Amino acid sequence: MYLCAMNCEIITIGDELLIGQVIDTNSAYIANRLNEIGIRVTRRTAVGDVPDDMINVLSDASLRASVILMTGGLGPTKDDKTKDVLCDYFGTSLTFNESSFKDLEELFKTRGREMTELNRSQAELPDNCIALQNKLGTAPGMWFDHNDKIYISLPGVPYEMENLMKEQVLPRLKERFKLEAVFHRTIQTTGLAESVLADRIREWESALPPCFKLAYLPAPGIVRLRLTGEGKTYDELKALSEKCIADLRELIGDQIFGYDDERLPEVIGKLLKSQNQTVSVAESCSGGYLAHLITSIAGSSEYFKGGIVPYDNSFKTKLLSVDKELILTKGAVSEEVVIEMARNCRKLFDTDYALSISGIAGPGGATPEKSVGLVWMAIATRDKVQARKFQFGKNRTLNITLTANSALELLRREILGLLNAN
Ligand code: ATP
Ligand code: MG
Repeated sequence: MYLCAMNCEIITIGDELLIGQVIDTNSAYIANRLNEIGIRVTRRTAVGDVPDDMINVLSDASLRASVILMTGGLGPTKDDKTKDVLCDYFGTSLTFNESSFKDLEELFKTRGREMTELNRSQAELPDNCIALQNKLGTAPGMWFDHNDKIYISLPGVPYEMENLMKEQVLPRLKERFKLEAVFHRTIQTTGLAESVLADRIREWESALPPCFKLAYLPAPGIVRLRLTGEGKTYDELKALSEKCIADLRELIGDQIFGYDDERLPEVIGKLLKSQNQTVSVAESCSGGYLAHLITSIAGSSEYFKGGIVPYDNSFKTKLLSVDKELILTKGAVSEEVVIEMARNCRKLFDTDYALSISGIAGPGGATPEKSVGLVWMAIATRDKVQARKFQFGKNRTLNITLTANSALELLRREILGLLNAN
């Protein structure tokens, strides 16, 4: 048995989690928030609504962790068993909690609803708990201080749980424990496969100060590098990380498109806005996904003029004036066709940039010369058009994602004047 002042186990409760009906997103959220304040999550357990199983899981967790945080099973119905189980576990019983009842009354008043007997029972809590007000729902959270360990029980509904974490749990944990700082910085890269990237930054990685750990988090077309620092003050870690990242920029500056949660469409939006420029798209095989990514950013109407999805070849001709003969001789997935698509799309929308895409997303559509995953794309500016060829794999969804991300990266590089560099 070992004890550490700052480790936590998460227990998620509910049969629905075990049959795969609900995906446990609560644990990910909680782990993220706890990590930020320096509490390490050492284990996650999902358990059904079975009292004996729940007791076992609680007892086991209490041997290892000093904070045990559970979600779910707090509702007023028979299938919600957490409160009774906690009473059994602590050897206490349910009593009417005045302050929780007042919170409930207030909630029902603001919602203009009558309280039922079942709702009233939600103010009955194990008598050794501190009630945590749930402003977004009827099940209060609970905080127990028992044998030098903290037990926290929160409702399963994600937005209720999240609000309780922010308003009640995190401030209390910070007050209760003297927490060591944990510093996270994520560096977002694109254009280099994970192994190539690892090779390129090998020496930099080996020379990182021992207080830092580096993790590679690959996603289609993007590799995130997460730098985690521990063992010093937050300010020291921040300053040190800045120095390390400056060194990293020397190595792969062109491939770094953002930091932390920044996404490529967001970065492009900022770039276009700052230069007062606009973009349009003509996408065939990505079926509008590129336009969707661009417009997922609030305020994109300032720089995105529009897009077309000329899926059928005849519409490449009708809408974008691509020469029919050219499509016949070179094929719709060709350098020549994407160049025409980009050039004419830019003229049509009168934008500073236009991106065009044509490819074989798969699984069908391959020819002896052109295999599934072949994608041509082009970028047009006011004075030139450049095309790029990509050969992705066999998975349709992945191909569409990779295509859209590569097109965004093409645009980023063009805006920054990096395109001719390779
Ligand atoms: P309520 O008072 O609403 O009944 P509760 O504490 O009883 O809250 P549950 O009944 O266990 O919570 O779950 C309510 C809903 O919250 C579930 O239907 C499910 O959609 C969602 N939920 C529960 N646990 C999780 C989890 N670990 N991750 C994501 N969603 C969850
Ligand atoms: Mg419930």
